[in-house]
Amino acid sequence: PKPQENRVFEADVAKLLHLMVHSVYSDKDVFLRELISNAADACEKLRFEAISTPALLGDDPKPRILISADEDARLLTIEDNGVGMSRDEMIEALGTIARSGTKAFMERLDAAQAKDGAQLIGQFGVGFYSAFMVADRVDVFSRRAGSDEAAVWSSDGQGAYTVAEADLAEAPARGTRVVLHLMEDAKSYAERWTLERIVKAQSGHVPVPISLVEKPGAEPTQIADGAALWTKPKSEISKEDYAEFYKSLAGAYDDPAMTVHYRAEGRHEYTALAFVPSAQPFDLFDPDRKGRMKLYVRRVFITDEADLLPRWLRFVRGLVDSNDLPLNVSREMIQESPVLAAIRKGLTNRVLGDLEKLAENDKATFETVWDAFGPVIKEGLYEDFERREQLLKLARFKTTTSGENWRTLKDYVAGLRENQTAIYYLAGGKPEQLLSSPHLEGFRARGVEVLLLSDPVDSFWVTSAADFEGKPFKSITQGAAELALIPKLDGDSEPAPETAASVADFIAFAKTTLGDAVADVRTSDRLTESAVCLVAPDFGPDRQLEKILASSGR
Ligand code: ADP
Ligand code: MG
Repeated sequence: PKPQENRVFEADVAKLLHLMVHSVYSDKDVFLRELISNAADACEKLRFEAISTPALLGDDPKPRILISADEDARLLTIEDNGVGMSRDEMIEALGTIARSGTKAFMERLDAAQAKDGAQLIGQFGVGFYSAFMVADRVDVFSRRAGSDEAAVWSSDGQGAYTVAEADLAEAPARGTRVVLHLMEDAKSYAERWTLERIVKAQSGHVPVPISLVEKPGAEPTQIADGAALWTKPKSEISKEDYAEFYKSLAGAYDDPAMTVHYRAEGRHEYTALAFVPSAQPFDLFDPDRKGRMKLYVRRVFITDEADLLPRWLRFVRGLVDSNDLPLNVSREMIQESPVLAAIRKGLTNRVLGDLEKLAENDKATFETVWDAFGPVIKEGLYEDFERREQLLKLARFKTTTSGENWRTLKDYVAGLRENQTAIYYLAGGKPEQLLSSPHLEGFRARGVEVLLLSDPVDSFWVTSAADFEGKPFKSITQGAAELALIPKLDGDSEPAPETAASVADFIAFAKTTLGDAVADVRTSDRLTESAVCLVAPDFGPDRQLEKILASSGR
């Protein structure tokens, strides 16, 4: 047998653990949600593996989570009969910072002051390591399904851990047992009432039943029935139930801004439960970030890598439970399945439709969603041609006249000035920066509203979106704005004829002096105070897109 090994954590884990141990973060209860969610994930992984290898289930086919408390010894144990971990898997999963949320957390932590770090925990949730908020030693006994070896991992959260082979009698017959040696000031987590309260509040709807053994030798009592929330009728589910389920499913700490729950019948039968968060996750723009919708087939978890929604809805969390797909479908086959394509279409329609309703009926909440996810939704404007019109209607903008408010394109078009035929925009930095652009002068003088497009994605969709209600989008940094036709607010004053002649002289001078550095020099209606500004040609990229392309080396 391999001897016990002493290992040190990956540097970041050590830092994270130090933070946990010294955390002043007040809501320590969340550690239990994290451990229960890991136990439930392990049960679901096993169910999936058992589809092709039924022997893995042995004579213990029903998934379960067992919480045991021992107040006198200050011990709390969370045990599951899920897939378990081998020794190497433990080193990999518990000794390194693997998941992207935790990684993003550490990056933020580097930037933040150490004392803010504790606050950050509340925003992120850091999975397994949150156990060290309440325990000064954690032992993890595990036996991988189908294996005849068991291993034990142990750490005091001070920077190092040990792994060793475990006696089969010490470890669960299958799955994982996490033993927390509770700190003195966390001993209430070994009390039945505390545990029951937290489980009901945080994990009451995980799809695996949870039982509690309140003291050594006591009989287990079931405290959560494992009836998956999404299979219940909507009328029996409260707002709190949904919020709690969202948090445990997504490992999130915010409340959902919108919940979509429906059962599709007819050609395809499935249940969908999807949440739009109210806060941005930190990896929203991570190119490796996958969609976050789980796929179940008749209550059996299959994968969270099925593309159940388009990329521009990648912030939506939740699940689809299909009645039509075969259970033994491989993850690869699922991607190709026409059933999945139909579900994807139906779900996208539904989420988008509900967002439209939200925009109409609850402006404030919709604007929270737009603040957080507008930049992602706008990716759909060029990725999803079919839905462009619908998305343009949904989109909200800051403009030269909007102040802090959001404007729709409908609002914009309703305020068009006499002879104005285009929707004008300025793309680039933050609205505050854009507002000081000299390009805006002539538009202000004529009371023409200009969209301030601040997100990098804007430069892309705006050049491909032909128009809105017949009005083309036009960059004010581009070409000769047809401004002259729009009357100025304070009555128009044509320049005197003698100015025109000297202007012509000046332009000739400027052209010879600047030579090849510019394509053209001309007079413009777009300035009222500044003397000159750079513009882009009528066709081709506008100034902002030019900059983006130049910086990406194209
Ligand atoms: P996440 O759950 O987001 O992956 P965690 O920090 O909660 O992050 O857990 C890290 C990893 O440890 C999991 O991905 C899993 O591989 C492993 N793990 C944790 N708890 C268990 C468990 N009860 N059974 C099996 N594997 C587990
Ligand atoms: Mg987890």
